Amino acid sequence: MQTSLAQFVRDTAEGREAEAILRKCVHCGFCTATCPTYQLLGDDLDGPRGRIYLIKRALEGAAVSDRTRLHLDRCLTCRACESTCPSGVRYGRLADIGRALIEERTSRPPWDRIRRGALSFVVPRAAFFALALRVGRALRPLLPRFLKESIPPQARAGGPWPAPRHARKMLVLAGCVQPSIAPSINAAAARVLDALGISLIEAPGAGCCGTLRFHLNRQEAGRNDMRALIDRWWPFVQSGEVEAIVVTASGCGVTVKEYGELLREDPQYRDKAARISSLARDLSEVIPAAPTRRGRGRVAFQSPCSLQHGQKIRGRVEALLSGAGYELAAVRDEHLCCGSAGTYSILQRELSHELRQRKLAALQENAPQMIATANIGCLAHLEAKAAVPVRHWVELLDPEPAR
Ligand code: SF4
Ligand code: SF4
Repeated sequence: MQTSLAQFVRDTAEGREAEAILRKCVHCGFCTATCPTYQLLGDDLDGPRGRIYLIKRALEGAAVSDRTRLHLDRCLTCRACESTCPSGVRYGRLADIGRALIEERTSRPPWDRIRRGALSFVVPRAAFFALALRVGRALRPLLPRFLKESIPPQARAGGPWPAPRHARKMLVLAGCVQPSIAPSINAAAARVLDALGISLIEAPGAGCCGTLRFHLNRQEAGRNDMRALIDRWWPFVQSGEVEAIVVTASGCGVTVKEYGELLREDPQYRDKAARISSLARDLSEVIPAAPTRRGRGRVAFQSPCSLQHGQKIRGRVEALLSGAGYELAAVRDEHLCCGSAGTYSILQRELSHELRQRKLAALQENAPQMIATANIGCLAHLEAKAAVPVRHWVELLDPEPAR
């Protein structure tokens, strides 16, 4: 694609990056077929090719409007288009650059600013989020139905976390919402890895990975969260005490793996960020194989977009589950997003709910006893409407499952 970027962006690092991405796009439209929002809305501007065009025009200096921003807000950043694109266009990165520019040049209505500000303030702070969740649960009977549905049910207890006793150690990301919604996930991961001779440890004070604020278009605040997390992890990395950084939520994992890239213009943090990214692993990448057992039930695995399109990990979790004796139910259209996508389920409710309904129909079509996933956001989103229990896949491998 020919480009002629405007002077204000042409000689910046982001301008150069965007231009290189845009030049790869041949406008073929293959990506449109696998875009969930194009499937729902049928408008080219609500598909990747149209959004790429809008971003290109903005970078070339064309006027942008609330309408331009809306088409980008409706994008889930699921990156299914990246998996489909034959030219290797990095849509996700281009969307980050385009969104920052369009955010700067438009003004959101007050209500939108307030709810985005509230999400950005509360969600990444684990203690605030835990408090908000407790209050929400206490007031649940009084809340309107749409709000009730957004409040996850009482968390299952985490269960015992094995004391560090092995020479092999890995850090695990605690995260911001996961400790309140499902403390059982990291505890189960710690037990599964302990049985494999690896001690899993959480760094004190290590919280949000930064993805939430970054994708709310508060990109500098998101980068500050990344820097804060790096500071918490760095002593463990520098001392050589840990061999990897494990992330049990694939939505956070994809961001941590991209720290090196997202902080490369920061001379103070770029080397540390690159080192952190090189150590980051999705949990499925550090569990070699589960002991084979028979007849543990029928499971439908929902492969989160951040796992299959973002981290390009496909088939690993399925292999671990079937190795552990679970029968995998076939899932139609498994490349399509469930509609969770961070805060998308709050900010784009109608599209998100429609995508959830379609995803649950596909997941439950072959009568599974349970749905497994790899990301806390997808888990909470699907659990609200699923007819069967929804768990993180590692909970199905756990020798002492939480109740
Ligand atoms: S992003 Fe890729 S698939 Fe989509 S229009 Fe451009 S080249 Fe084609
Ligand atoms: S990231 Fe997902 S929703 Fe956004 S344009 Fe690509 S396929 Fe469509």
